[in-house]
Amino acid sequence: MTARKRVLITGAAGFLGSHLCDRFIKEGYHVIGMDNLITGDLRNIEHLFKLENFEFYNHDVSKFVYVPGELHYILHFASPASPIDYLKIPIQTLKVGSLGTHNLLGLARAKKARMLIASTSEVYGDPNINPQPEEYWGNVNPVGPRGVYDEAKRFQEAITMAYHTFHGVETRIVRIFNTYGPRMRLNDGRVLPAFIGQALRGEPLTMFGDGSQTRSFCYVDDLIEGIYRLLQSDYVQPVNIGNPDEITIRQFGEEIIKLTGTDQQMISLPLPTDDPKQRRPDITKAKAILGWEPKVSRSEGLRITYEYFKSLPEQEINHKDF
Ligand code: NAD
Ligand code: UDP
Repeated sequence: MTARKRVLITGAAGFLGSHLCDRFIKEGYHVIGMDNLITGDLRNIEHLFKLENFEFYNHDVSKFVYVPGELHYILHFASPASPIDYLKIPIQTLKVGSLGTHNLLGLARAKKARMLIASTSEVYGDPNINPQPEEYWGNVNPVGPRGVYDEAKRFQEAITMAYHTFHGVETRIVRIFNTYGPRMRLNDGRVLPAFIGQALRGEPLTMFGDGSQTRSFCYVDDLIEGIYRLLQSDYVQPVNIGNPDEITIRQFGEEIIKLTGTDQQMISLPLPTDDPKQRRPDITKAKAILGWEPKVSRSEGLRITYEYFKSLPEQEINHKDF
C-alpha cells in the first residue's frame, strides 16, 4: 500500500478549516489539524479524533511551527475571520496573517510542500468596481478598524508570492468571498448567523445602515470544491472563489424573515466604519482555469444552514456574548 499524502491544515477547528479536514480525510489523506482555538471549536472536528489518519496540534501558528515527518501540502486557514472577532483581537489577527504565514512558508520550504493560503475579498477593501476581478488592486484604508485584517491578508499574499519567486516554494492563493454553512458560530457577528440567531430568539434583525450594501454568499461545499481544485492546479496567481449571486443586506434580511417564519422585522443600526458598499466576485478565472462554478443556490444553502442552527442546544442559541 502506498503511504497516504500528508496535509497540514491550520485553523482546523474553525468553520472552513473543519470542512477542509473532512474533505481531505474523504480523499484519503493523512490530515494534521492545527489550531489554538481562539475562535474555533473542537466540536467541529471531534468526529475525526477516532481516525488513525487524523492528528491535532493545539498550537498558535504565530509562534514557531514544527511538524514531524513528511508534508505534501499546507493549507493556511488560521485567522479570525469575522469583523467582530478581528476587531476584538486585532494584534493576533495581524500576527497570524504575517508571522504565522511566514512560519508556515518556512515550513513549506523545509518540507518541499505546496502551500495554499486563505486570502479574502477584503483585499479589495471598499471596491470602486463591481464585480471584482483578480487584477483589481483594491481600496483599503490601512489605519481604519478593518485594516488589521485587510492589511494582514495583503501582506500574506505578498510574502507568499515572494517565497514563490525567491525560494521556489509552490504556492496557491485563494481569495474567498463571503461563505456560509453549518459550523459557523451563531455569535460570530457575521450577518447570516446574526440574522438567523435573532430570528430563532424572537428578536428584531439588526440591519446595519440602510441595508443597501451588497454581498454575494457562497455555500461552503462549493467553496471547498474550488479550493481543492486550485490546490491541484498549477496556477500561482490569486483566484477568486465565491458565488456571484449578489444581494443587498436588506433583501437578505427579508429572505431570512421568510425562511425562519419569524414575526420580527428589521431594525437599522449604524453602519460600521469602512463597511464595503458592494461585493461580488468575478469568477471568470475560476471557471476557465479550474472548471469551477458554484452549484448550490442561496435558497438551498440557507435551508441547510437554518436546519443546522435550529438543531443546536437551546442554551447555545440563547448565548449571545461575543
Ligand atoms: P473561523 O474563525 O471559524 O476559523 C479560524 C480558525 O483559526 C479558528 O479555529 C481559530 O481558532 C484559528 N486560529 C486563529 N488564529 C490562530 C493562530 N494564531 N494559531 C492557530 N489557530 C488560529 O473562520 P473561518 O470563517 O473558518 O475562516 C478561515 C479562514 O478563511 C481565515 O483565514 C479567513 O480569513 C478566511 N476567509 C473566510 C471567509 C468566510 O466567509 N468564512 C471569507 C474570506 C476569507
Ligand atoms: N451586517 C448587518 N447586520 C449584522 C451584521 C452584519 O447588517 O448584524 C452587515 C454588515 O454591515 C455588512 C454585511 O452585513 O454590510 C456583511 O457583514 P459580515 O460581518 O457578515 O461580513 P463582511 O462581508 O462585512 O466581512
